[in-house]
Amino acid sequence: MKLLPLLCLSALLVGCGGEQTPPNQTAGALTDEQLRTAAQLRDEMLASNVAWEVVEDLTTEVGARMPGTPSDAKGVEWMEQRFRDLGFDKVTLEPVEYPLWERHHEMANVVAPFEQPLAITALGGSVGTNGVLVAPVVYFATIDDLQAAADEEVAGKIVFINKRMEKTIDGSGYGPVVAGRSGGAKVAGAKGAVAVLIRSVGTDSDRFAHTGMMRYDEDIPKIPAAALSNPDADQVERLLQRGALTVSIDISAGFTGTYTGHNVIAEVTGSRWPEEVIVIGGHLDSWDLGTGALDDGAGVAVTTAAAHRLLSEDARPGRTIRMVAFANEEQGLIGAYAYAAAHETEIAQHFLGSESDFGAGRVWRYDTNVSEALLPSFEQIFPILEPLGIERGGLESGGGPDIIPLQQLGIPVVRLSQDGTDYFDYHHTANDTLDKIDPEALNQNVAAWITLVYLASHIPAEGN
Ligand SMILES: [Zn+2]
Repeated sequence: MKLLPLLCLSALLVGCGGEQTPPNQTAGALTDEQLRTAAQLRDEMLASNVAWEVVEDLTTEVGARMPGTPSDAKGVEWMEQRFRDLGFDKVTLEPVEYPLWERHHEMANVVAPFEQPLAITALGGSVGTNGVLVAPVVYFATIDDLQAAADEEVAGKIVFINKRMEKTIDGSGYGPVVAGRSGGAKVAGAKGAVAVLIRSVGTDSDRFAHTGMMRYDEDIPKIPAAALSNPDADQVERLLQRGALTVSIDISAGFTGTYTGHNVIAEVTGSRWPEEVIVIGGHLDSWDLGTGALDDGAGVAVTTAAAHRLLSEDARPGRTIRMVAFANEEQGLIGAYAYAAAHETEIAQHFLGSESDFGAGRVWRYDTNVSEALLPSFEQIFPILEPLGIERGGLESGGGPDIIPLQQLGIPVVRLSQDGTDYFDYHHTANDTLDKIDPEALNQNVAAWITLVYLASHIPAEGN
């Protein structure tokens, strides 16, 4: 018997179940047959067209889906119809209310010493300039430097924050830079600045500015905030090295009321424990500049394709798979919090949550955050993922942005982490378009998702 684990590891892709347990490790509860089925589904999905069709149709027939815009409503209608066309067992809409922010126009120019236009985009949530604002520019390498500056250095000026984002596979360069985007206007406004310009939170050197959400404090003057494309930030840096710089900014944007959007939900009813759910999905909304292909049309497409395959009798999940196309992730996980609030009474029936929201790069790591009791079964999933080029990651994973509210309520989560090396070249820009998606990488995602979701749905939990 002691030889069996070794034999299993070397001879079988599907791993070992039953009594074939390595010493000092509890057996997972998935059967060999379930593992074999998952491997077949995995291989089959590498040649599927469903995900590509979803993201192509969504980005072509709807395009950008900024919260509260007419295309937000169009996107919801489109998604509901697509779920129905794909034959999901149950399709529902759940209302989500949010503040409506509108972008009308945005322009910036160097006034002196060398007149020229600058490529900018207003940050989400920003107020407008109320006409053309002209002021000298003051340089800060980071938001911390701005924080440390005396008020008189900043008052009456346009603050420029120059921190550049680093390119990494896991997007770890984003966090340290995004503070300048979300909080720059608060810090600058408190010191009397008239506007803030940041270097885009992005890793490209294209002339596309990256938008994204920013915040005000109610008791601090609200000043307009915009991002410069990376080459334009370089230009501003060089201009400042030559002496005093004056820039004009003309932004028309702002909050104009509230809007009711929707989470669009599709279910595959579980065959063994239908009352227990696994929440998967992506966010249906996007920013307005591109067509929201990578962020997050791809995530919606990948999870829809995986869930759709599980509708067939030969692939029925044990638990119910609840595919959520979340509303308004971009402006503060608003759909995700609405989902958690609407399902508060059935939180205990949520077995697992996981979202795809990091573009369309290949899945390269499998991260988990589940109970010790369930971990051996989740470990059984890994050998089926591994042939897709996936590594085993850590045990303290998040489940994706829209899963945060569920994780806060104690729901186990996993993440199929994607290669995000190029993600922030396009993130929140006009350049986030369908051509950035590699269909083969997209299908590798679907293959990983179906493996995870099918197997997780069959893991017996306590009491089952
Ligand atoms: Zn996203």
